[in-house]
Amino acid sequence: MTSESLDAFVNNLETYGKIYGPVKTGESCSFQEISQSKEMALNYSRTMIPPKKFFLKLKERMFIFDERECEYEETLEDGKIVVFGIHPCDIYALKLMDKIYLDKNPDKYYQMRRENATLIGYSCHPDEYCFCQSQGTNYAVDGFDLFLHELKDKFLVRIGSEKGNKIASENSKFFMDVESSDIQEFREAEGKREKEFTLKLAINGLTDMLALSYESDVWKEYADKCFGCGSCNLVCPTCRCYDVVDNVNMDLKSGERQRMLNSCMLKKHGLVYGGKNFRPTRVERLRNRFNCKGSLREDMMNCVGCGRCTVYCPSKIDYVEVLRRVRGEL
Ligand code: SF4
Ligand code: SF4
Repeated sequence: MTSESLDAFVNNLETYGKIYGPVKTGESCSFQEISQSKEMALNYSRTMIPPKKFFLKLKERMFIFDERECEYEETLEDGKIVVFGIHPCDIYALKLMDKIYLDKNPDKYYQMRRENATLIGYSCHPDEYCFCQSQGTNYAVDGFDLFLHELKDKFLVRIGSEKGNKIASENSKFFMDVESSDIQEFREAEGKREKEFTLKLAINGLTDMLALSYESDVWKEYADKCFGCGSCNLVCPTCRCYDVVDNVNMDLKSGERQRMLNSCMLKKHGLVYGGKNFRPTRVERLRNRFNCKGSLREDMMNCVGCGRCTVYCPSKIDYVEVLRRVRGEL
């Protein structure tokens, strides 16, 4: 697709739902509704809040109930959306979310939103906080509908799903056949991009290193700096812990059930009935988060190397630095 066709192509995506793309907001970037491609800052490094916000709401009503009427009404939205400009690391994070929320016992709230969403990936260049190459998440093989790789004056577009194929067919006027010179240009661009990654994290044996460092002083050192604010969980594309609360009305018969994202860095995360807390100290909570992120979930890395937790930590706790300390490299 030529670069000039991008605006018209994005306009046409309206057919598939409300379009959201990365928009510059002050110092940061955020996925917001857009009407034309020029509103997007497609050369962004990362958004503060990852695309998980489209699928896991900060707070949502699951259903309302009334015991007297035997009523139970779920609140399911069904708006179609197109999320344009997602980077490979965020695509990987959504693949992990899909495994957790869809594979065994599908979560209907997540499922409905995922089915209603079209994901369009976009190539990116790393900054000094990106270590997705170390995590193996710097190139999305699947998990998207379409993926646009920016070349000199055109895009090489990959199709990743039947939905993506349908969009490409219905918009065929924007696409040209791939020439061998395009493939050569794509190869060179990808080769160059591979060399742009400067931040590295050795992940071989990391889970064992973390287990062996359970009593390490490193945890106390960083916990002393940590404010326990939970921002690292909020901005992490793979953090997904949630809490479920029943808000009962004054009649004690009716009310609503709410689900809200939770944070393992907050003290009450480990609090259970009877006042017992599984992780009462900040040291335990910090160590738990690093152990969780440094391990596999559903056979996938639980950290995708986006760098958000380092960039947005108000205490400047550097994720890679902590793990390099744990490995004894620093
Ligand atoms: S963002 Fe930083 S200060 Fe806040 S809880 Fe996470 S590590 Fe601690
Ligand atoms: S742990 Fe940090 S670097 Fe890893 S995915 Fe979460 S926010 Fe990104």
